[in-house]
Amino acid sequence: MKYRTLKMSVVAVSCSLAFSVSAESILFTNVNVFDGKKDELLENYQVLVVDNKISKVSSEAISAQGAKVIDGKGMTLMPGLIEGHGHLQMNGTSLPDIENNRNWEELAARSAARANSALLSGFTTWRDAGGMGAGLKKTIDSGELIGPRIYPSGAFIGPTGSHADFRNFNTPNETFYGHNSSGGRLGMSCTADSIGDIKACARQNYMQGATQIKLMSSGGVASSFDPWQLNAYSLEELQAAVEVADAYGSYAMSHAYSKVSLLRNLEAGVKTLEHAFMFDKDVYKAMKKNDAYMTTNMTAFSPYLGEIEAINSNPASARKAKTAQAAFGNYIDNVNKYKPKLGFHVDCVGGVAACEQQADHSIYLSGKFFGNHYTLISMTSVNGEIVKLAGEVLDPYFEGKLGVVEEGAYADLLLVDGNPLEDLSVIGANEKWFDAPKRDGIETMKIIMKDGVIYKNTL
Ligand SMILES: [Zn+2]
Repeated sequence: MKYRTLKMSVVAVSCSLAFSVSAESILFTNVNVFDGKKDELLENYQVLVVDNKISKVSSEAISAQGAKVIDGKGMTLMPGLIEGHGHLQMNGTSLPDIENNRNWEELAARSAARANSALLSGFTTWRDAGGMGAGLKKTIDSGELIGPRIYPSGAFIGPTGSHADFRNFNTPNETFYGHNSSGGRLGMSCTADSIGDIKACARQNYMQGATQIKLMSSGGVASSFDPWQLNAYSLEELQAAVEVADAYGSYAMSHAYSKVSLLRNLEAGVKTLEHAFMFDKDVYKAMKKNDAYMTTNMTAFSPYLGEIEAINSNPASARKAKTAQAAFGNYIDNVNKYKPKLGFHVDCVGGVAACEQQADHSIYLSGKFFGNHYTLISMTSVNGEIVKLAGEVLDPYFEGKLGVVEEGAYADLLLVDGNPLEDLSVIGANEKWFDAPKRDGIETMKIIMKDGVIYKNTL
């Protein structure tokens, strides 16, 4: 941070002398730009980065004395990718494994490794969908670790027996804030069975640095005690959570599968529906009315789903996965029909290699189901809008847009060898999932820049 302050003062001094840019500025020439929105590339453009922002995007030559020039050789310059729903600290092989076998030290160390791998896979921003406070985010922002910008949700909020309840069958029964589970003690989950407790959990998360809150308002698959059909919170309970989020100028994101739960969340004012497998015309209408978004894990529709260890190691989860796949059969057709504001979402629970495989396969599946352009905007501009729902007061990165190549936006950029609108494999898409070979970065991703700083350059 000291370094950044120093650079800014240099710019301020030089501005008073003449129009020139700081020594650390970078001019990309000879690039085709995917701007995060349009279904075509802006051909043969130049993009100037000054300090940590995009300063100019032009089809004309940009004069920038003192800037380092990078000849893009006709490659594609695009926004850094944004994970819309991930869990860096959920890095055991399954929920019981995290609960029983991992202490804080291992979880924290592994989450740092996951963050490093995410950035070097092109993810420059990460909305963490629960299980982690702001500690890793602060460490990355201080420059001591490498990773994406993080928008943390803090502890999952859900009632006893819900998808946020990490306990085992034999965990002692006092449920106050879930403190008797390891997940509760570590601040990964917050069990809340009353309106007062829901508000207290939400406030505790914000106090600890969350930028939004995550509710578990329906059951899930990779957990032991909650049927996915469960509508875990009432309208009044969801409204209580939204009331606290509103008070902070922030928003609630909510894990919801069933149609009842999806509509109830929207009625309560929840801004992003997570998973949303029973999305249909009615849900679409309610989303439009509320200016809401949704994000979905495409791997729920992968032919390899049954091979996920978090699911197949648990017979209850395996059985749930089968019925869920059958019930969510119209999701893909409905998304193609109504085109909701859909954010990209990997939702990996696991270690570095497993989560790289899952992210690559998720990109492939999204392209296959919805096309490359819809996939790319979901990973860039749409997720960029979603993270900004945190509101001006809580947004740690409030000075510019994310997920777009635009003047004034943060300089989070990738230079990729190929056109991602034609071929998503240039950003890692892989038809294979578990049998994909371990990789060391993505070869076609030549430059990875976050906040104006280059973390990878193999040009
Ligand atoms: Zn999740």
